[in-house]
Order: sequence, then structure tokens, then C-alpha cells
Amino acid sequence: MKDIFDNTKKELADMLATKGEKTYRARQIFSWLHSRGVRSFEEMTDISKGLREKLAGEYTAGSIHIENMQQSALDGTRKYLFSLEGGGLIEGVFMEYRDWNTACISSQVGCAMGCRFCASAVNGCERDMTAGEMALEIYEMERDTGKRISNVVIMGSGEPLLNYDNLIRFIEIITDPDGKGISQRNITVSTCGIVPAIDRLSEEDIGGGHLQINLAISLHAPTDEKRRRLMPIAEKYSIEELMGAASRYYERTHRRLTFEYALVKGENDSAGDAAELARILKGMNALVNLIPVNPVSESGLTRPDKKECIAFKNKLENFGINGSIRRELGSDIDGACGQLRMRSMAQNSQTGI
Ligand code: SF4
Repeated sequence: MKDIFDNTKKELADMLATKGEKTYRARQIFSWLHSRGVRSFEEMTDISKGLREKLAGEYTAGSIHIENMQQSALDGTRKYLFSLEGGGLIEGVFMEYRDWNTACISSQVGCAMGCRFCASAVNGCERDMTAGEMALEIYEMERDTGKRISNVVIMGSGEPLLNYDNLIRFIEIITDPDGKGISQRNITVSTCGIVPAIDRLSEEDIGGGHLQINLAISLHAPTDEKRRRLMPIAEKYSIEELMGAASRYYERTHRRLTFEYALVKGENDSAGDAAELARILKGMNALVNLIPVNPVSESGLTRPDKKECIAFKNKLENFGINGSIRRELGSDIDGACGQLRMRSMAQNSQTGI
């Protein structure tokens, strides 16, 4: 059965019209699901019993479950392992900042992109997640923490632009004012750089006008040769092509771009690398987010120390490029993306689950 959370409000209205129901019911049901936190049709007390029974016969409501949660003693960050009724395990992270809470969510079960520094890539991509499953990651974190989430980064397992239609549907659902009503400006989509999909995204129109979401592009190296050593996608698209798509995205949306740069000791962290990076980003309205690479045992990669990271950032800033070093949250729990899932899968295979 399909999960009712996967429907946009318009799709609910169309479905209800085929049942001879008034279309305003769509707004009521959508609000129960995406704003009022219900997980069953019985809880929708202003909907007739007959309609609730019909819906319960055709749809499930809420098809993901928390399997495991680790909370940081240092900063309250919570890392979740979710199981999906449609199959698969994924991770999500809840992060508290002073004035808001952010959810980092997954978009695919595993990932096919094979970035060397990423634990999500180890077993490839099992399947795309639905828009409803992506939204439910946020809602489950809110239920568990009792706190409101206003910001979303799609930076967990998966390449969101390879799950394009579900990504757009997800954005439509969680920005709907009758539901969660998250501002597009508080949503960040992180991509390893699928050039045609970035162009497609820049032409997208949800809510009258170009998208206003933030785009974070995983660059991770200043030359094609170095990038190919870290990211297989670099075999397909050159940095020049990627920068072309990024500039077009900026021209159409006027949203400042973020470039993610995992600092890897001896690979991409020299003064020459900083100079080359500054050269390719010159003239762009961009921020470089420097992330000391998380040690994933399979990768053999190590991170520069704090002093070296600061030196790299300062070098960039000397060239007029804005840089920031990502604040590490939850460093006392399974930190790297995909590690919690990987550990659970390894345990399950050992125990034969
Ligand atoms: S970094 Fe992102 S795109 Fe690369 S393998 Fe990991 S999840 Fe996939």
C-alpha cells in the first residue's frame, strides 16, 4: 500500500474528488499529516468515519521507524537510524543551534556515487526514497525530541539530484503552508555535482518563481585530477562544466552558492591547493565550507589538524574567498555520514538478521 504522506495537497484533492468528496477535505487531511503529527486515520477527528475507513483501506500512514538513536553528551546532537517499511536503513541527524533546529536527512538508501571519504557509498545504492519517507525523517525527529525543526539539509545518504522527482515533490510537500510550511530559504540540497540536474533545478518553479533553496556543491578538490581521486563523478563532469552550471544556478536564483570541501591530509590541503581553489571560484558569490574529513576506515584518508585547517581557510580569505570551517557537532557519536547504518548492517549480517 502507498503511504498517504507521499501525496502533495493537490494529489490528495484529486484523489478525494474521485471519491465524490469535497476538495477542502484535502487541506484538512494534509494538515493532520504534515502539521499536526498524526500517524493514523482514526486521529483525524474532523473527517467522517466512512472516509477515514476508506483511506485506511487504501493507504498506510507513516512508513518509517526509529531503530536506534545516539545522542551526543557534548552538544545534544542526535543521530538516528531509521528503518523503512519499503525496505532499507537510512540515517538522519538532528542538530541544535542557538536559535533554530536543523534536520540532516537522507534521500536514497545507500549511494551509488562512490565518494572515497563517505561511508554511505560502501554498499552502493539500494533504492530511491519517496518524498513521504524524506518528510517523515523530519517528523520522526520532531516527535522524538519534542522540538520544532525549521531548517533542513539534504546531505545524508544518497545523491538527491539522482532522485530528482521525489526531491521536488518533497520540497513541495514540506514548504506547503497548510503543512510544515518550511521556508525554501531554509532548505539546502547537497549534490556531488550532477551538471544537467543542476541546470534542471535552476529552471524549477515551485510556488511561483525560481526555487529559493540553497545549493551546496561538493567540490572537494581544486583540479580535475585531484577530484577524480576522491570522487568518481569527476570522471563524468569536469570542474569547468560544474562551475558553468553553478554560475547559471546563481544567475537564475540569486542564491549564494556553497562549495563543500573535505580537507584531506596530503591530498587537497596544501597552500597551492588553496590558491588554485581561489582561482576557480574567483568572482562567484560563494562560501567554501571546509570539513576536516571524517576518518572512514575503508578510505585510508586522514584529516589535517586544526592549525592546518585554519591556515587553509586564511589562505583562501587572503585571495578574497569566504571560507568557514564546519563546526563539528556530535563528535562523540558515530560521526561520519553512513557510519551508524554501516555498523548496524555489519551487526545484522553477523547475527544473520
Ligand atoms: S558524499 Fe554524498 S554523493 Fe558522495 S557517496 Fe556519500 S552520500 Fe553519495
